[in-house]
Amino acid sequence: EQIKLADQTRQWELRPEQEFRFEVDFNNAIILRLKAGMAEIFGAELGQGTSYNFSGQKVAVFTWHGCTLEIQGQCNVEYVAEETPMVSYLNLHVALEQRRVSGDQASDAVSTTGPIVMVVGPADAGKTSLVKMLLNYAYRQERRPMFINLDPAEGSIMLPGTVSAAPAAHMIDPEDELNSLGLNKASDVSTPLCYHYGYASLTENPKLYKLLVSKLASTVHARLANDQPSREAGCIIDTGGVVDPAGYDAIQHCITEFKVNVVVVLGHERLYSDMHKLYAGNDQITVVKLAKSGGVVNRDKEFLRQAQLRTIRKYFYGSVNSEFSPFSTIAWYQDLKIFRVEDALAPSSALPLGQDRKLSETQIVPMEPGPVLLHSILTVSSLDNTEDENKLLESNVAGFVYVSSVDENKNKRKLTLLSPFPGRLPRKYLLLTSFKWMEV
Ligand code: ADP
Repeated sequence: EQIKLADQTRQWELRPEQEFRFEVDFNNAIILRLKAGMAEIFGAELGQGTSYNFSGQKVAVFTWHGCTLEIQGQCNVEYVAEETPMVSYLNLHVALEQRRVSGDQASDAVSTTGPIVMVVGPADAGKTSLVKMLLNYAYRQERRPMFINLDPAEGSIMLPGTVSAAPAAHMIDPEDELNSLGLNKASDVSTPLCYHYGYASLTENPKLYKLLVSKLASTVHARLANDQPSREAGCIIDTGGVVDPAGYDAIQHCITEFKVNVVVVLGHERLYSDMHKLYAGNDQITVVKLAKSGGVVNRDKEFLRQAQLRTIRKYFYGSVNSEFSPFSTIAWYQDLKIFRVEDALAPSSALPLGQDRKLSETQIVPMEPGPVLLHSILTVSSLDNTEDENKLLESNVAGFVYVSSVDENKNKRKLTLLSPFPGRLPRKYLLLTSFKWMEV
């Protein structure tokens, strides 16, 4: 009976500028349909009558002019909110668009760059959601800004443990979220830029993190330099929500390297005040403050872990709407070259007191394949021949493989790898990440 009740279809009527918020846990799934009017999820317009599936997500459906929604399945939370910061978010978009337009009109169009926006704030402030809105609103005005993800906890374009960038070549799918800008779209001509970091937080190896941010920034700027429409559209940068001294240092580093000209501080007075002071004398950088939405929900560790696992699973198996089968490949030990960042498995807290991290944090060392790799995620480098193996860290990620079994039998020392690439592994250089995954 309970199941019937849970499956009962219900309708919600929204008046203009109201927002329907819901949370579905990972064990449930719901279907949402727009019956009448217009509505959007983080800036992506919903099609009338289309069925949208959600599971393990916390979502807001906003309407500017009123709408009727139909929902089926069990939510943990569902309610309609009156108060949202959406007008201020839209105003931010309008201001960014004005910068793009003045870029269009500038006589010296070659040298103009559009808004390079970086969204900062604590964890669970709604940063990623705001980034999605800014990308979608830009897309709806035929702009294709570059999306940049500097939050290694979130595998938005690719997998967790990377920093990456991709042009917003289409609307962000409300179900697939930012993954929809990533690798799984085989038809996308615009390959994402992606560098291997290997950890979920910038605090695990700040030196390497900063090195990769610099590398990504220079590659992005090199792409923009050759592409005027992209340059005018600018960049929208998502960040990792670390507001301690290491986070401040990383934020400033990112601002410098990406030549950020708009810093958006979400839901953190102190950070706003500090950023404001820091860049007060700099007329190239505008610092703005926006309120956090009352709808943003804290995601506990378990939710984040499940979300990471889902991203990994999606990478290999696709999503509800586009399922595919990964390939199982046998790789002999002797054909592989596996590296890890020095101390890759020891968080800084594991170092003896007083011992400083050395240069080695940004260097890789070769490692023997073995049982330690079981269930690990490895990054496949796009380099396939190099004299200097440290170049691997600075080369684009070609993809990822999952170690599903390790065979240590004397004559056949081999790994079984799950991979989205058909046939043999395209490349021999692999980098170990700190992510383990149990295939389910
Ligand atoms: P951050 O990037 O700052 O960590 P997110 O944008 O990822 O924050 O938001 C945290 C969670 O809250 C996400 O699951 C997101 O989908 C959800 N969320 C954001 N805004 C709303 C809203 N207005 N109503 C309901 N849920 C929301």
